[in-house]
Amino acid sequence: MTLSRREFLGTAAAGVVLTVPGIIPSPAADEKPKKLVLIVGTPSHGPGDHEFNAGVLLLDKCLKGVAGLETVVFRNGYPKDDSALDTADGILCYADGGVGHPLVRENRLVRISKLMAKGVGLMCAHYGVEVLKDLGGPEFLEWIGGYYENMYSCNPMWRPEFNEFPQHPICNGVKPFAVRDEWYFNMRFRDEMKGVTPILVAKPSDAVRDGPYVYPRGPYKHIQESKGRAEAMMWAAERPDGGRGVGFTGGHFHRNWANDDFRKVVLNALLWICKVEVPKAGVGSEVTEAEMAANLDPKKK
Ligand SMILES: [Zn+2]
Repeated sequence: MTLSRREFLGTAAAGVVLTVPGIIPSPAADEKPKKLVLIVGTPSHGPGDHEFNAGVLLLDKCLKGVAGLETVVFRNGYPKDDSALDTADGILCYADGGVGHPLVRENRLVRISKLMAKGVGLMCAHYGVEVLKDLGGPEFLEWIGGYYENMYSCNPMWRPEFNEFPQHPICNGVKPFAVRDEWYFNMRFRDEMKGVTPILVAKPSDAVRDGPYVYPRGPYKHIQESKGRAEAMMWAAERPDGGRGVGFTGGHFHRNWANDDFRKVVLNALLWICKVEVPKAGVGSEVTEAEMAANLDPKKK
């Protein structure tokens, strides 16, 4: 069953449209659902790490029942037939990045640029926020407001404590949380953070800045020299074309999806990029141990 947007907003009992004199009823109830396309990266790391397939299928399960949203999952990398993107309102890319980034390789920047120009939303997660400075970098600044730049950004394993959140729909219902992850920071952001709102912010300890990082192990002098500075591990960006972008640097360990607030902030962001209203309490979801253990990449022999 699909709930109408009106029910989702909780403004009317099922089947009853309330009208108030002088207030034009929202046409939202008749609106076509927004479409989110989720692109899953191919297997790369060991068990429990970079489980893009299991992670995306878990998020997809949590989004079922969100009124006004439909999803399409592209499993195992960028699809041969990507025509679903033509009618997408938002795209998630949870995949390995760098030279092999699914949105960059094989001249896809051109294809994605056209979608972005129409105002399609984009969220990239974990390694998916990394592109090359001269291949994808300028586009990512426009599309999602920032990216991981090799030797400028860093990727330590650490446990930031996210205690305060800005007034932003992505933070709806998110309570303070802390999980250990490969939380990248010191992203290359737009100049003066124009149009960029930091969403998950914490201060790395001096020990975190001193390394080692996952790769290269560092430490980098410019990271050490910024001791005491707060960093954004997730951010939201608005584009002049009306589109919305989000970067989320966690997502290395599959087990972190079991944390309700870690999951909620990502689910909220997926609605936000599609311009689906985020419920006041955020997207509610539950995952079982069995669901956490499902769809993991096959173990290498
Ligand atoms: Zn990782």
